[in-house]
Amino acid sequence: MVYQQTKAQLKQQGLAPSKKLGQNFLVHRHTAERIVRLASLSRQDSVIEIGVGLGALTTPLAESAARVIGLETDSGLIRLHKKEQDLPENVELIHQDVLQADFSDLVRKSEGKRLKIIANLPYSISSPFLFKLIEQHDKIDFAVVMLQKEVGLRLLAVPGTKEYGIPTIMMASCAETTLLMRVKPEEFHPRPKVDSVVVRLRFQPVPDRVQALESFDYGLLKTVVNGAFGQRRKTLLNALSSTGLLSKEAIRQCIVSAKLSPSIRAEKLELEDFVKLCSEIRKYQTIE
Ligand code: SAM
Repeated sequence: MVYQQTKAQLKQQGLAPSKKLGQNFLVHRHTAERIVRLASLSRQDSVIEIGVGLGALTTPLAESAARVIGLETDSGLIRLHKKEQDLPENVELIHQDVLQADFSDLVRKSEGKRLKIIANLPYSISSPFLFKLIEQHDKIDFAVVMLQKEVGLRLLAVPGTKEYGIPTIMMASCAETTLLMRVKPEEFHPRPKVDSVVVRLRFQPVPDRVQALESFDYGLLKTVVNGAFGQRRKTLLNALSSTGLLSKEAIRQCIVSAKLSPSIRAEKLELEDFVKLCSEIRKYQTIE
């Protein structure tokens, strides 16, 4: 019932796409099917879909997995699906704002397994949503997420570029990001002004690339990365000195012990450098 008829269907139900809720619905079935295919689900999986909308992704998801738990915040759309009974039987629709959702609860609903998430969400909440995934990373297996191209590129950025920053490092500290596909505005109704990408975020308690390093303190990493990029034009030494973590001289010693130059800028540092630096800061704090 969705796809090409999206516009007509909304009109018939007395609904209009809400700008506030970022409602840009997928209009081509083959695009929705491609996203689901790229998610590589198995028939035994329970999948969490965030932002069910009219169900463009929900139907192919329900055909590829054992069960879909769909979150949607719009009461108009919840009423529509209840009235029409148009979603497949293995879909459980929940009226819920994902930013308020309790992920432990979703894990319980997924038979105690780490979450497999599919999301085509409003671009206005990409940032809080991605940071929620980072905060809750131990409860997630993977997420396949549609993002505004520029936000996706930030996750995939390499050191030394303007896209490289806090989201790049914090996501890399708990997940591996892969680009799955690019999506043009013509794929949506209404058409967004920007291009989109679909990425896969494969979460790991400690990612492969930092597993061999001495210690990994997620809370400290967050403070250091925020401090370092908070004033990204300053040198690492000056940016970190204003965080109040340690004295300037102590920070300098930690930077040197981590085999970094105090005059380097945050955007040149790899995740591994940040982890080493955190480990030196932690050692210094323990001695003090
Ligand atoms: N999945 C559908 C598709 O691909 O056509 C809809 C995508 S549309 C971009 C985003 C959907 O997320 C809308 O249905 C919107 O109402 C819903 N949404 C917006 N904010 C949300 C939130 N905080 N929590 C859950 N759903 C939300």
